[in-house]
Amino acid sequence: MHNGRVEAFDLSGKAALVTGGNGGIGLGMARGLARAGAAVAIAGRDADKNSIALKEIHSLGAKAIGLLGDVANETSCRAMVNEAAERLGRLDILVNNAGTNVRRAPQDYTLDEWKLVLDTNLTSAFVASQAAYPHMKSADGGKIINVGSMMSLFGASFAAPYGASKGGIVQLTRALATAWARDNIQVNAVLPGWIDTALTKQARKDVQGLHERVLARTPAGRWGGPDDLAGIAVFLASPASDFVTGAAIPVDGGYSVQA
Ligand code: NDP
Repeated sequence: MHNGRVEAFDLSGKAALVTGGNGGIGLGMARGLARAGAAVAIAGRDADKNSIALKEIHSLGAKAIGLLGDVANETSCRAMVNEAAERLGRLDILVNNAGTNVRRAPQDYTLDEWKLVLDTNLTSAFVASQAAYPHMKSADGGKIINVGSMMSLFGASFAAPYGASKGGIVQLTRALATAWARDNIQVNAVLPGWIDTALTKQARKDVQGLHERVLARTPAGRWGGPDDLAGIAVFLASPASDFVTGAAIPVDGGYSVQA
C-alpha cells in the first residue's frame, strides 16, 4: 500500500485526458482517476458543464483542467490532446469517451446525422489516439481506454449509426492494441451497460418501454450510475493492467450474459 492506495492501482504522477469528462460516464471515470492520484484534463463543448465538473474534481484534492473543443472536428480534437499534454506536462492516459446518439429508424437518417454520430463516437477516438501516440511513445508507454457500448455487441433498431460507431470502436481498439503493444501502450475498450446519464434520459423519452426492458434484462436489477465505471477506468489506466490489451470489457450488471 502507498498513501492508502494499492500501488498497482496508483496513478500518482500520471496525467489523463477524458473527452466528454464534464458529465455522465466521463465524469464518473474522471473522478475515479483523480481519486487514484492522476492529474485530469476534462474536455467538452460546454464551458458551464466544464467549470461545474472541475470544481467537483478539485474538491477531491486533484489537479484538474478544463478544455473546450469539439471532438468531431479533427483540428479541435488534435488541439485538445496537445493542450492537455502541454498544460499537464505529460499525457499517460487517454479516455475516448465523448459520444452522442441520434435515434431513428434506419431508413429515416440523413447522411449528416450518420456522419455526426460516426465522427463524434468513432473518428474522434482514432484522431485523439493518433495525436496522443507521440506523447505516450516519448514517455515509453501509455494507456488508451475507448468507450464502446452494449451496441458494440447487439443490434438496436433505433441506432444504426451508433451501433456502427460502437462496433467500430472495438475493432479500432484491437488494431491500435496490436500496433502499439511494443511501445508499451495498452489499448482497451469498456462496454458500459445501461447507465443513467443525460444521454439515456433522452433515450428513455425517445424509446417507449426502454426503462422497464433494461431493468428486466439486467441481472443486477438496476441501471448503472457513472461511478460504476470508475473502477474499470482506474484498472485500465494503471500498472495493474499492463498485460491487458485489445480487450473489450463489459461493465453492465450482467446485461450481456443474460439469456
Ligand atoms: P452524456 O450525454 O451524459 O455525456 C456525453 C459527454 O460527451 C458530455 O461530457 C459531452 O460534453 C461530451 N461530448 C458530446 N459530444 C461532444 C463533442 N462533439 N465534442 C466534445 N465533447 C462532446 O453521455 P454518457 O455519459 O451517457 O456517454 C458517454 C459515453 O458512454 C458515450 O460514448 C456513450 O456512447 C457511451 N455509453 C453510454 C451508455 C449509457 O447508458 N449512458 C451506455 C454505453 C455507452 P459537452 O456537452 O460539453 O460537449
